[in-house]
Amino acid sequence: MPDLIDAIVDHMIGAFTFDLGRYLIAAGVLSLLLWIFRKWSDARRIQSRRAGIADYKREFFSSMRTVLVFGLTTISTVLMEAAGWVTITAGEIIWPLFVLQLLAMIVAHDAYFYWMHRWLHTKTMFRFSHLHHHKSRTPTPWSAYSFSSFEAVAEAAFVPVYLLIVSVLAGGMYPFAIFLFLAHMIIRNVMGHSGVELFPAGWTRGPLGWITTTTHHDLHHSQGHSNFGLYFTWWDRWMGTEHPEYEAKFNAVAKPIGWNVKAASQISIIAFALLSVATTARWV
Ligand SMILES: [Zn+2]
Ligand SMILES: [Zn+2]
Repeated sequence: MPDLIDAIVDHMIGAFTFDLGRYLIAAGVLSLLLWIFRKWSDARRIQSRRAGIADYKREFFSSMRTVLVFGLTTISTVLMEAAGWVTITAGEIIWPLFVLQLLAMIVAHDAYFYWMHRWLHTKTMFRFSHLHHHKSRTPTPWSAYSFSSFEAVAEAAFVPVYLLIVSVLAGGMYPFAIFLFLAHMIIRNVMGHSGVELFPAGWTRGPLGWITTTTHHDLHHSQGHSNFGLYFTWWDRWMGTEHPEYEAKFNAVAKPIGWNVKAASQISIIAFALLSVATTARWV
């Protein structure tokens, strides 16, 4: 029993520093890059409305609460691991299996998020919980964790539930795959809320056009009722919930740009991704 209490205390310290760290780093680094390249980012701003100080304050403080709720919710993983229900795979990594684990978790989370999000948009659930996230009509990178306590539990519940299913069906997961899943999640999350189109012109018509852009989630915040997906456009297309003017809006804001500016923006996105991953890599 004392071991279990130690494990829970360790988990809370780890979860708090990791969740807080990745939020502050990802949102902070992206905000800084958008400010450094402000000429570029102002030209690609999706809405003419700008978020005010009150928005930033609400987003920041509710994200702090979300960090705490994430930690408390995922105590369930520690308990299930102690009971032998969840297996975190130790030992040498088999890379094809690792890649499969990572991709499967991302695809599963995208499906979970889409349907949870549709549920949160039912009349009762919206008023009860999701309205808080939608107070950010003009999102900023700091909106990424701006949830009510209930929504934070629903968001965090995916990880223990998924790990339980994978442990039962496939014998567990590598911790590094879980870490990369979480890093990808926060990076895509702050990109989707950045208010600035970060993807290159022509993206939606390209071979990777099924990966959601910033305009995709921005339209969800400015208008609601469409674009419920997180990483991919699949579910919105299958269920007929994609914004009818998604591509047109994307094309209007993602203008072709000269190579100098283009190179700078691409370097900054890569730097942002690397920095976010590297500085939270203590889990590896
Ligand atoms: Zn929503
Ligand atoms: Zn959002």
